[in-house]
Amino acid sequence: MKISVQRALLLLLGGTVLVALIPGGFLLDRRLSFELQRAAREGLSIAPRLLEDRNAARADALMMHAKDLAAAPAVTAAFRQRDPEAAVRAARAARFDEREQVLVVAAGAQEPWAGPSPGPQMLAATREGEMPVSFLATEDGPAHVALAPVMDEGVWLGAAGVLQTLDEAAVEALAGFTSSDVVVESRGSGGALATLDSARAEALVRATRDHADDAGVIEVHLADGSRWWIAAAALDGSSRVLFARSVEQELSVLPRLRRGAAIAAGLALIVALLLGTFAARAIARPVRALAVASEQLTAGDFAAPLPDSVLREVDQVADSFAQMRSALERRLEELEEANRALEAQQGRLQALQGELIQRDRLEAGGRLVAELAHEIRNPVASIRNCLEVLDRRLEDDQSRVFTQLAIEELARMHELAEGLLDLNRPADPDASGADPSAVAAQVAALMGAGVQGERWPIRVLVRAGGPEAAIAPDALKQVLINLVQNAQEAMPGGGRIEINGRAVSGRVSLEVADIGPGIPDDILGRIFDPFFTTKGEVRGVGLGLFVAEGIVRRYGGVLSARNRTGGRGAVFAIELPATEPDQ
Ligand code: ADP
Repeated sequence: MKISVQRALLLLLGGTVLVALIPGGFLLDRRLSFELQRAAREGLSIAPRLLEDRNAARADALMMHAKDLAAAPAVTAAFRQRDPEAAVRAARAARFDEREQVLVVAAGAQEPWAGPSPGPQMLAATREGEMPVSFLATEDGPAHVALAPVMDEGVWLGAAGVLQTLDEAAVEALAGFTSSDVVVESRGSGGALATLDSARAEALVRATRDHADDAGVIEVHLADGSRWWIAAAALDGSSRVLFARSVEQELSVLPRLRRGAAIAAGLALIVALLLGTFAARAIARPVRALAVASEQLTAGDFAAPLPDSVLREVDQVADSFAQMRSALERRLEELEEANRALEAQQGRLQALQGELIQRDRLEAGGRLVAELAHEIRNPVASIRNCLEVLDRRLEDDQSRVFTQLAIEELARMHELAEGLLDLNRPADPDASGADPSAVAAQVAALMGAGVQGERWPIRVLVRAGGPEAAIAPDALKQVLINLVQNAQEAMPGGGRIEINGRAVSGRVSLEVADIGPGIPDDILGRIFDPFFTTKGEVRGVGLGLFVAEGIVRRYGGVLSARNRTGGRGAVFAIELPATEPDQ
């Protein structure tokens, strides 16, 4: 399976964010839950101390109030007179706070004149001149009691003081500053004062009964499925206060936090993906452009635009690609150039090969013709001699006309055979060179004399004084006459003939050009063949060009034919080596 760079980067980013978020979130959740529990339990564990501090402060205040109350003169007077009503009235009048109840105990009295019994210990303490403060279990619940001795001139008359019961308001206040529910268990009253409903309060009291008050924070499971953390504090031997925190309530913030964290994580993922898409696109765009450029390169387009990226590596790849591309383009151009050169060379090679084959064929034909001519020449000479003898003996003029005709034809045949034999004779090494301009002028004079000159005017354009051609002048003359004659025959109605000449780098070139119909392409390759003619049996025998080509070749030259470019007519070119300057 193949995926794009953009998608791969996005997957990588999304995966990384998820891999980071999920365990991170899990750990955070665990940590948060742990911290919440720890904070809640720690807060709860200091509640008894707070209660202790509060009680100590309250005890000091109550003690002062008790002291003032016991020292009030009206109270002392009523004690002195042992008047309970007056004493209680005086005590109430002297109390500091309306909410406080008075406790009046006269020395030797069976029952207190007012308030609950403080117990013998507290009473004994006042006799010693002390001002004890303690909790008492009253019918209304535990009460904070402070007593002071009532003295008359050093005589202890009894004790008076104040008490403050732990009422609902006090419990509410306690719950407020300890941030927990409060249950006050008072064995004296048998009931429980609590900020919780009584069923729960009693269940909590029951559940914690076996635990020591200084056991710290304990966890309690109730039958209704609720869980509680509890810290207990003893007020006195008969009462204690339970500080309770509901585990569910304390941790109730957790689901909300989890939800918030999940939303935040989701948002982070979306933002990361959005940023990732943007970044991935920025990275993928130049990479894609490079891929497109390489595809276009395959299709032969070397100019596709290349990306410009802020990423160094991508830029390096683009630079290398551009270098590779231009190197490839140069190589291709060189290759095409080499191909063209190869094609041209092949063309030249083919032409050369064609020429060689032609030469071989002509040489082979030449040898055959020479053999034939040799075979024919001797019998022809014998027949001619016989006919000459016969001619001399004949007296009938009529018959001699025929013998003469036969002798002339045989002479022509002999001459022809001689000419053909010349073809295979090696070039005469002693033959001096031919002056091309002189030979051309002679041929023009010969062939253009008289009426002939009017029908076929011959123009000679050969610079005099140029290098000589390495050929016997007669041989060159024969070749030129042959070519001029062919030109004349190609233009039966007359026409201009040109003989051009020039010398180039050690070679002499002569051209015979006419303005006739030219040579049809399909016979151009065969006109030098022996006996090839298009002139019919009467006029042509097809040996003219064959003989001319043989002569030129014998002197190391080349005779070739072509049609005029950009005009009518044929051009026959003779190329011969030039003679050495000192010869
Ligand atoms: P012949 O003249 O007897 O036909 P040649 O060997 O001289 O034999 O010529 C061969 C053929 O070459 C001719 O028959 C003719 O078709 C062609 N040829 C030669 N010279 C010319 C020319 N100047 N213009 C057109 N065709 C020519």
